[in-house]
Amino acid sequence: MSRFYVTTPIYYVNDAPHIGTAYTTLIGDAVCRWHRLLGDDVFYLTGTDEHGLKVQQSAEALGLDPRTMADRTSERFKQAWRQLDIANDDFIRTTEPRHYRAVAKMLTAIRDHGDIELGTYEGPYCIACEAYYTEAELIDGNCPIHLRPVEQLKEENYFFLLSRYQQPLLDWYEAHPDALQPEGKRREVISFIRQGLRDISISRTSLTWGVPIPWDERHVTYVWFEALMNYLTAIGYGDDHDRFVQWWPAVHHLMGKEIIRFHCVWWPAMLMSAGIEPPAHVLVHGWLLVGGEKMSKTRANQIAPADLVADFGVDGLRYYMLRDNAFGPDGDFSYEGMVARYNADLANNLGNLLSRVATVVGSKCGGVGPAPQHDSPLATVAADAYDATAAAWARFAPNDALDATWRLIRETNAYLETNEPWKAEPGPGVDAVMGDALEALRIVAVLASPAVPAACSEVWRRIGLPGSPADQRVPEAATWGGYPGDLPVEKGAPLFPRKAG
Ligand SMILES: [Zn+2]
Repeated sequence: MSRFYVTTPIYYVNDAPHIGTAYTTLIGDAVCRWHRLLGDDVFYLTGTDEHGLKVQQSAEALGLDPRTMADRTSERFKQAWRQLDIANDDFIRTTEPRHYRAVAKMLTAIRDHGDIELGTYEGPYCIACEAYYTEAELIDGNCPIHLRPVEQLKEENYFFLLSRYQQPLLDWYEAHPDALQPEGKRREVISFIRQGLRDISISRTSLTWGVPIPWDERHVTYVWFEALMNYLTAIGYGDDHDRFVQWWPAVHHLMGKEIIRFHCVWWPAMLMSAGIEPPAHVLVHGWLLVGGEKMSKTRANQIAPADLVADFGVDGLRYYMLRDNAFGPDGDFSYEGMVARYNADLANNLGNLLSRVATVVGSKCGGVGPAPQHDSPLATVAADAYDATAAAWARFAPNDALDATWRLIRETNAYLETNEPWKAEPGPGVDAVMGDALEALRIVAVLASPAVPAACSEVWRRIGLPGSPADQRVPEAATWGGYPGDLPVEKGAPLFPRKAG
């Protein structure tokens, strides 16, 4: 059995879940669901990043202690992911004791390696990023990510000697050409490393909301340096060495492009220093832009997933996000695009196929689904759809995977239109065509289940099959001929009622 470990970034509790964080989380969920169909041992991790100045300040402004604030917001993320049918195997919070143990262990390993020193730091600091910048990186004196003013900070800090890792990082990327995708981001990271690396501040004394430095409790470490370690904590680092080595380093870190410097420069260097192999796969996606701009609180274009679920249902939102945007480049989010995609693919294609099959089986086959033909013309279409779907999931391309699966739906609708079973007399001819269509629906329910799990379970149930598509194993369950026939077929309400444009 192969192991498949996927992580999202852990989301900062000063923020609320929005469609940007939902996007990363959905991609991870769908890819993991595909790997469960393959029979892999899957571990899907998400969680919340709960320390830092921003959380401490926001809590103070609300008259709360930071832990209460973190409890509340972390619960909002959990609820949002439950609502979107995210099947994560663990939800890590950086305030958990297991994380403190892992941080202490890793910090100690890095210090024992001689890569942590005490010093004084002064420089422009963005509170929203929780990171220092150089003057050269600022845009008109503002944070390059948030385009907001930075603060000048000066304090005694512990430093991680990142500068020592310039050549080791370059050597590592040279030896692992597939570790960072897409290629454009890999080039960007390598050129950043080539310009030379500065040591990074990893602790503060002016802040209490962080993880204490094990050898000097006046200091806490916080946010990036500590948060990145969650990926190790969750698989047993510091607690269960045997478990840890089963899952690491064959991880797939998913993230938006704004945090690659942390994940592709700091993180592998930290791991090398602690004597741990860097992550095997980092997969970077673009931003979901709204009206051409990155979503942000300050621009008031932040969209809550719950609002879209109210309009399109959970599967409507899941499908749109996975199907309409290629993983990698920036995508554009628009309500009009969502309506168009929903109507075309879900209402008119999948929903219509299920509805016409159930109607004709009801009127011409006595409501009992016939078995498919072994030599159906749809058999090769289904085989091709499986191959293309599997290949696309394997390369983290949900949009291509769904396009391939939907080809089988479109071909099956076309097959019905050519044969017009609704006009024919009941008998073996109609039975053959309807058996083929039911078998195509069965295969579609398996192949589409990573994206639209609830709808696929409902298709499965209505065509009379026991269990659920998520319990199936591919490629066997995608092989033509699995629908046994002689099952009751139910005509229910439209699976995806059409939306008015
Ligand atoms: Zn910033």
